[in-house]
Amino acid sequence: MTVLIEAVGLHKRFGDIKAVNGISLKVAKGEVLGFLGPNGAGKSTTMKMITGFLEPDAGLASICGIDVFKEPKNAKAKFGYVPEGAPSYGEMTTRAFLSFIAEIRGYRGAAIVSRVANAVERAGLGPVLDQVIDTLSKGYKRRVGLAQAILHDPPVLIMDEPTDGLDPNQKHHVRNLITDMAADKAIIISTHILEEVEAVCSRAVVINKGVIVADGTADDLLQRMHYHGAVSLKVVADRADAAIRALTNAAAIASVETLGKPNGHLLLRAIPHQKTMTAAEVAAVLRAQNIPVDELYVERGRLDDVFRKITMPEEGDSNA
Ligand code: ATP
Repeated sequence: MTVLIEAVGLHKRFGDIKAVNGISLKVAKGEVLGFLGPNGAGKSTTMKMITGFLEPDAGLASICGIDVFKEPKNAKAKFGYVPEGAPSYGEMTTRAFLSFIAEIRGYRGAAIVSRVANAVERAGLGPVLDQVIDTLSKGYKRRVGLAQAILHDPPVLIMDEPTDGLDPNQKHHVRNLITDMAADKAIIISTHILEEVEAVCSRAVVINKGVIVADGTADDLLQRMHYHGAVSLKVVADRADAAIRALTNAAAIASVETLGKPNGHLLLRAIPHQKTMTAAEVAAVLRAQNIPVDELYVERGRLDDVFRKITMPEEGDSNA
C-alpha cells in the first residue's frame, strides 16, 4: 500500500469554535475517499490544511511524503485541488485561465497547448473555451475548477464538492472521470451527496464536530443499520396475523416489524439473528403456511440513514 496523503493530529480553532479537533487519516494510491459530514463538520477546514492553504494549530499533513507546510512548493506540484465554488480570475476566458495555470505549473510553449487541450477534453469544456469564466453556468465553472486541478496529472487530487451545481449528465461525466483516474492516484472528495459515495468512493470517512466518527467502505457503513440484511415483504392484510406468527416462530428470525399498510396489504420487515438470512428462507417460512407473498427483498439500508444515525445518534435508527 503506497500512502500518498497523510494527516496526523490536525487541529484548528476559530475563536471558540473547534473546527477540526484531532483528525488523522491516510489515503493510499488507488483509493477514492469520500469525506462526509454535516454542514460545519470541518470538512473544508481539514481539506485546506491537508493542501497547505490553512495552517493548523497543531498537526502535520503530507502529500507523497512531502510536508505541505515545510515544503509547500514541492507538495503543490504533487496534487490538484478543486476548492469550493468558482475559480478565481473570473475575468479570463477558460482557455486563457488554463494556459495561465499551465504556465504557473512550469510548462512552456507546445506543452502548455497540449496540457490545456487534454484537461479541456477530459473536463468537457470544448464549448466554452473562449468564454469568460464569470459568464459561465455554475456547472461549467465547477468543470473549469476541475480542469485546472487535473492539468498537470498529479498523483493526488483533493476535491471539495466536485459535482456541486452540476446537472445529472454532468455529474455522471465527472464521476466517470474520477473513476477513470482513480487507479493510479489517491483522491479525496468531500461531498454531501451520499449516492456519490456509493458511485465512486472505495472508502468513506464521516466527520462530525471536527472528529472522525466512522471510517470504512459504503458497505461497512450500511452494516451499522440494525436492519441491514433484513428481509422486507408484502402480504395481503387478511393473512397478516398468520404471517407475523409464522415469521416470529421461525428460528432464524429475531424480530418482525410492521412498516405500513398500503392498499389492503401489510408491509413487514423480518430481522434475522445473523445477517445472513436469504429472501428464499423467509419465503419458505411463509410458503409452509400457504401464505402468499407479493414482494420480497433483502434490505441493504440507506446511506442517508447511516449518515443521520452516525452524526445525530440521539435520533437513533430513523427507519426502525
Ligand atoms: P459545509 O458542509 O457547510 O461546507 P464543512 O464541514 O466544510 O461545512 P467547515 O467549513 O470546515 O465545515 O467549518 C467548520 C467550522 O468552522 C464551522 O463552524 C465554520 O463556521 C467554522 N469556520 C470555518 N472557517 C472559518 C473562518 N475562517 N472563521 C471562523 N470560523 C470558521
